Amino acid sequence: MAEKKEKKFCIRCFRELGEKEKYCVQCGAPTANRCTYKGGLVGEPCGNVNDPDAVYCSKCGAPTEYRELGLIPGHYEAATRPREEEEDEMQAFNHPFFRHD
Ligand SMILES: [Zn+2]
Ligand SMILES: [Zn+2]
Repeated sequence: MAEKKEKKFCIRCFRELGEKEKYCVQCGAPTANRCTYKGGLVGEPCGNVNDPDAVYCSKCGAPTEYRELGLIPGHYEAATRPREEEEDEMQAFNHPFFRHD
């Protein structure tokens, strides 16, 4: 039995979206609420797809694309950078490659 696909609607104009639409053909809004984190010195871009109402990425805490584009309201300013990430970067700098002693 085929799985019943959940209908998706545009976050902006509420049009029903086709399965393959990456952007709403009516208003141009992205149809997936991706994380905007593009990667840092050592980090990879996140690329996590969040729930349509997510203001911040559930994986890394960066603002989501819908938030950046002003498609959903954000009630809170961004918190400090996720701690995990800072520690990762510190570890990278302690890597033997960066040491000169
Ligand atoms: Zn739309
Ligand atoms: Zn993320």
